[in-house]
Amino acid sequence: MENTNLLNGFYCCSSCKLPLFERNKKFDSRTGFPSFWDSYEKSVEKKLLQTYGRERIQLLCKTCGLHLGHLFPNKNTPSGKRYCINKASIELMKEKE
Ligand SMILES: [Zn+2]
Repeated sequence: MENTNLLNGFYCCSSCKLPLFERNKKFDSRTGFPSFWDSYEKSVEKKLLQTYGRERIQLLCKTCGLHLGHLFPNKNTPSGKRYCINKASIELMKEKE
C-alpha cells in the first residue's frame, strides 16, 4: 500500500514518476533552470562525461534513464553541489484532491 501523500512536495521524473528531488532542497540559482542541492535518496544516476577534455556529470533518472540535467560544484549550497535540471524532465507531485 502506498500513501500518495508521501509524494506531496516531491519533484518526480516526468516520464516514469520516480521521486527525484524534494521541494525543500530546491533553490534559486538565478540560471533559469530548476536547481537542487541534493537528490532524493539514490534515485538520480550520475554519469561522468568527457567531452572535448572537459568533465561534466550528467544526471539521469535511475529507473528510466531520462536525461535530467547536469551536476555542478557550487560554493553556496549545503552540499557544495548544484543539480541543474531541465524543467521538462521533472514535475511537482501534488496531493490528490
Ligand atoms: Zn524516470
